[in-house]
Amino acid sequence: MFTEIITSKFKTIPTPFYYYDVEVLKQTLQKVKEESDKYGFNVHYALKANANNKILNIVKSFGFGADCVSGNEIRKAVECEFTPNHIVFAGVGKSDAEINYALDNNIFCFNCESLQEMEVINELALAKNKTAHIALRINPNVNANTHKYITTGLEENKFGINLWELDAVIAALKTLNNLKLIGLHFHIGSQITDLSSFKTLCLKVNEVQQWFVGYKITIENINVGGGLGVNYHEPDTHLIADFAAYFKLFNEFLELLPNQKVHFELGRSISAQCGTLISRVLYIKKGVNTNFAILDAGMTELMRPALYQAYHKIENISKSTKYEVRSTDSSSIVNHNSSLEKYDVVGPICESSDCFGKAVELPETLRGDIIALRTAGSYGEVMSSAYNLRDRVKAFYSDEI
Ligand SMILES: *Cc1c(COP(=O)(O)O)cnc(C)c1O
Repeated sequence: MFTEIITSKFKTIPTPFYYYDVEVLKQTLQKVKEESDKYGFNVHYALKANANNKILNIVKSFGFGADCVSGNEIRKAVECEFTPNHIVFAGVGKSDAEINYALDNNIFCFNCESLQEMEVINELALAKNKTAHIALRINPNVNANTHKYITTGLEENKFGINLWELDAVIAALKTLNNLKLIGLHFHIGSQITDLSSFKTLCLKVNEVQQWFVGYKITIENINVGGGLGVNYHEPDTHLIADFAAYFKLFNEFLELLPNQKVHFELGRSISAQCGTLISRVLYIKKGVNTNFAILDAGMTELMRPALYQAYHKIENISKSTKYEVRSTDSSSIVNHNSSLEKYDVVGPICESSDCFGKAVELPETLRGDIIALRTAGSYGEVMSSAYNLRDRVKAFYSDEI
């Protein structure tokens, strides 16, 4: 566990870096597997959450498929030996080259997001004398009750085919002879913590299914996407998301037709809690109403706070009693919690949005202290950049250091 590894080892590694706890990842995957197997559900890992080879190899070893949103993600999945027949490909803007690459690799399914995209895939498949398996990504107009930048299933969003467009899509499919409709796909957003949004989704899926039944169209696969949220506020007590309740809900509320298979595309909930961004305090600077703790990590390493005001728990692991218990003999434990101070924890990048948290309560923090930004394994390292010509952030794994 994270709480047990903060030892002298960390002090010698140049910051910033991502630290991945392989045990946490494996425990999470084990739980996903157990709970999804109960109902025979198929799980595809969304590579966009974290596409590190080591993470992908561990995910693959549990037998999961891959959910890709670019040609390079498909390439990565293939390189990491995910079975092509377990790869799905979504995205509103698939380029011709990406579609061709997916066709060449005989992936399981294209999740199509518009009629024009279907026409292009049909044309490219025809040129290769192939049949592309497609699912229609349907925009169910369901509110995921999450941050507006990670809501995807409302009519105002760019994703998917709207319900009122379905007649035209079905009519067009009759002439698109190199496409085979094998599924319906839905994905309403990310970091969804209110499970009732998924219940609303299930009821919508049932409705859409009935519409297809009315047309006498058989659908073999229902893909309900991803989106299960994680607990950013209390990572230690909620290391693993409630997969039991999540899969149970879909089993309870989805009305499946005979032999239909159900697919999930989970990203965040699988890899978020195993990753932590570790950095050092460069400077403490007095502001007007607050002190700034200026870190050597910024939005270039972890963009979520700047991009969607996301919360990450911030801990001073040089000062936390939690970690000292294990690093030295117990007689030297000091209770730093008695003297908490408030800091605006910021990065070094030349942007005011480069801020990890305002008025964060920390024990008295000094230059050189090691700071942990928790729950950073999903949409952390993958979104890192070289803005300001920064060095690309490094990664270390619990079983290697
Ligand atoms: C991002 C994405 C996912 C994964 O979402 P999480 O919230 O990380 O589980 C699944 N499906 C599609 C189509 C996506 O775009």
